[in-house]
Amino acid sequence: MAAALAAAPDATVGLVVLRVGRLGALGAMIGYASIDEAEAKILTQMQLVLRVGDRVFRIREGEYAAVLANLRSRNHVLLAANRLVRDFQQPLLLASGPVTLNAVAGAAAAPVDATAPEPLYRCADLACLAAEREETRTALYRPEEGAVRIEHAELHEAVAGNQLQVHLQPFVEVASRRIIGAESLARWTSARLGPVRPDQFITFAERTGLIGELTRWSINATLRLCAEVLRSPEAPLVSINLSPRVLIAPGFEQLITGALTFWNVPATSVLLEVTETALMEDPERCVAVMTRLRDRGLRIAIDDFGVGQASLSYLKRLPASKLKIDRTFIMDVVGDDRGARLVHSIIDLAHRLGLQVVAEGVEDEATLLRLAEMGCDLVQGYHTGRPAPAAEVLPLLVQAAPAPAR
Ligand code: C2E
Ligand code: CA
Ligand code: CA
Repeated sequence: MAAALAAAPDATVGLVVLRVGRLGALGAMIGYASIDEAEAKILTQMQLVLRVGDRVFRIREGEYAAVLANLRSRNHVLLAANRLVRDFQQPLLLASGPVTLNAVAGAAAAPVDATAPEPLYRCADLACLAAEREETRTALYRPEEGAVRIEHAELHEAVAGNQLQVHLQPFVEVASRRIIGAESLARWTSARLGPVRPDQFITFAERTGLIGELTRWSINATLRLCAEVLRSPEAPLVSINLSPRVLIAPGFEQLITGALTFWNVPATSVLLEVTETALMEDPERCVAVMTRLRDRGLRIAIDDFGVGQASLSYLKRLPASKLKIDRTFIMDVVGDDRGARLVHSIIDLAHRLGLQVVAEGVEDEATLLRLAEMGCDLVQGYHTGRPAPAAEVLPLLVQAAPAPAR
C-alpha cells in the first residue's frame, strides 16, 4: 500500500477492508484445515472480482484488504466494496461443502481521507465498523466518524470520578419468557464530545491501559446498584463484561472477591462475560483463573461466540456455564437456511458440552420463535428489552422467576 501511495501521491488510491464474520465458528465445526482453504479461496475470489492491478492482502484471520490504484473518483472505492460484498453473498465452495460467509466492507480513499497507509487503514476500519453497526454491509469512511478524539485524561477522570453510567439489558428465559437477569453495559457522556459509543471508549481504554480501572469501576458500580436486588429470593443474575487480559491480570481475583464481600453480593448471582479472544491469549492461565472463580461460586459466560477462534474442544475444558452466540449469527436465523443451521448446530454442541445458550441481538418475535424451536435457553436483544439505566431495569429483576437450572 505504501508503494501505491508513494507512486502516485495525487492519484486516488482506494482501500477496502473486508471482514467475514464466521471463520472461527466454521473452524470449530468443520476443522481448522478448512479455514486455510477458505482464506485462500477468499483471496482468489477477491482478486477475480477486482480489476487487474488491484492488490489483495490478508490482514488477519477473517480480515482482508484490497488496494485499488488509480481510481477515477473516491466513490469508485465504494463501488468496489459493494461488488466484493455482493460477490460474497454467494456461498464459497470448500472441499467439505458450500459455506456462506457474512461479509462486510469499509472503504476509504487517499489522498482525501488520509495520505499514509496506517491512517488510511484506520479510516477503512472505522467505515467497516459503521457498515456492521448500521447493517448496510458496506460503507465509505465519513470524516465525522474519525472526529471522536477521546483524550486519555478525560476518560481517566470520568472513570475515577464515577461519571460513567451503568445500563442494564435483560436476559429472558425462552421457555417462560421471564427476565432472569441482566447484562451491565457502560455508558459515557463526555462534557466535550457528548455521548461516546461504548465500542469507541472501551476500545480506547483497552488500547491505553485504562481498561483495568474501567473494569474496577464497572464491577463496583454494578454491584453497588444491584446489591439489594441480587440478595432477593428470586436470585436474578447480573453479568459483567471483562475485556481480554483483564481476567488474567494480576489481582483480578482479589478485585472481584473483594467487591463481592464489600457489597455483600452472593458470588452465585454474578456472571462474568469473557470473550473468546481473551481465552485464546493465555489458555492455561485462563482455565486456572476461571476454575478458581467458578469454585468460589461465580458463573462464567463465553461472550461473542463465533467471531473469534476458540475451538469447541477447548471450550470443553472451560468451567463456563453459558455460551453467548454473537449477534451477527442470530441476524440470519430467519431467512437464511444455512445461517439457521449453523446456529442450530452451535446450540446442540453447546448443550452437549453442558452449556446454556444465550442468543444475543434478538430483534424480533420471528427470530425468538425460531430460536425457541432450536432449543435456545436464553435471549437478549432489542425485542425483549433494550439496555436502559439501571434504575429502570432493576424493578423488573425483582419480579424475576426463581431461575431453576443455570
Ligand atoms: P457486548 O458485550 O456484545 O454487548 C452487547 C451489545 O449489543 C451492546 O452494545 C448492546 O447494546 C447491543 N445489543 C443488544 N441487543 C441488541 C439488538 O437486539 N440489536 C443490536 N443491533 N444490538 C444489540 P453496547 O452497549 O454498545 O456495547 C458494545 C460493547 O462494548 C459490548 O459488547 C462490550 O463488549 C463492550 N462493553 C460495554 N460495557 C462494557 C463494560 O462495562 N466493560 C467492558 N469491558 N466492556 C463493555
Ligand atoms: Ca457482553
Ligand atoms: Ca456479546
